[in-house]
Amino acid sequence: MNLQDYKGIFVFTQQVDCKITGVSFELIGKAKELASELETDVTAVVLGAGINTLAEELAAFGADKVIIVDNPELKDYTTEPYTQVMYEIIEHYKPEIVLYGATAIGRDLAPRVSARVHTGLTADCTKLEIDTETKDLRMTRPAFGGNIMATIVSPRHRPQMATVRPGVMQKRKKDPDAKALVEEFKIDLKPNQNYVEVVEIVKKVSDKIDIMDAKILVSGGRGVGCKENFKLLQEFAEVLNASLSSSRACVDAGWTEKEQQVGQTGKTVRPNVYFAIGISGAIQHLAGMEESDIIIAINKDESAPIFDVADYGIVGDYQKILPILTEKMKIE
Ligand code: FAD
Repeated sequence: MNLQDYKGIFVFTQQVDCKITGVSFELIGKAKELASELETDVTAVVLGAGINTLAEELAAFGADKVIIVDNPELKDYTTEPYTQVMYEIIEHYKPEIVLYGATAIGRDLAPRVSARVHTGLTADCTKLEIDTETKDLRMTRPAFGGNIMATIVSPRHRPQMATVRPGVMQKRKKDPDAKALVEEFKIDLKPNQNYVEVVEIVKKVSDKIDIMDAKILVSGGRGVGCKENFKLLQEFAEVLNASLSSSRACVDAGWTEKEQQVGQTGKTVRPNVYFAIGISGAIQHLAGMEESDIIIAINKDESAPIFDVADYGIVGDYQKILPILTEKMKIE
């Protein structure tokens, strides 16, 4: 393999119902930073049906080039045709880096593409940087149950491929005047080439804001004590117009839903204010919230590690403190 043949950074852009998912913009933002160090450009690759209008938005968020694969067979995500298209695109353009969001789709697609093009994949990355000497991509992810951060390089294979956790990278400011070179990639996908047929898509209806989009989060941990006690947190959240989230301990106990879990195996959040109530601050929890603008912790143990990352800390029993704060906030 001649590594010099591989050029440019490609971002697999995930769209659902012709709406680009947030992590794709975050990846384009990160790819732009990496591209400036490699003196190369960023290409967004988008697959689907009736998606020609998406190029403008991708350009506005930083894509220099957009490759569109518009085909009725790609309307809904299914593994086989998407893998086939990504494989052919990589064979044709030979990018040096390919990035995917670590979403359900990205986690399904990326390993299959990497196997087919005979390269490695670093899954669930939280940090990407260019090695100043070798110009290889340094891909960092939690390992050994989150106890260490492992940095992985792929010095002898191209493309270098990674999935990246949603919420970790920051998208660029939208520039509505930015333009990208748009190219259509034609591929002959025959009907029924697919092993899986999508019969129906049932969307989960929820009136709750996704915790990744919330400006203020009131987050509870095992210290809350039981499911019923979350009422106190709910009242506080309502006064602040905040959303409720939790540590994994509460999800495991059945007190909160999986989609409310913050952390390494949950969601990465970056709200303006994060209240950590009865949360000890385990490394796997911190991995999902330490980038919050302001962290306010309430914990009865003054040596709890959450206080190491908190901007403000209150030592005491949350059952006494929270009702006082709720009343105060109502008055304010
Ligand atoms: P605890 O650690 O039990 O802390 C409870 C805290 O509440 C204590 O600090 C205590 O002092 C305080 N407290 C008790 N009573 C009160 C009171 N009345 N008032 C005020 N404070 C009180 N965890 C996650 O959160 N997210 C993840 O994504 C995640 N992924 C993981 C992945 C792996 C591979 C592994 C091994 C673990 C993962 N964990 C994750 C679990 C993590 O290691 C911790 O076990 C978990 O975060 C602890 O949750 P906690 O802080 O709510 O509970």
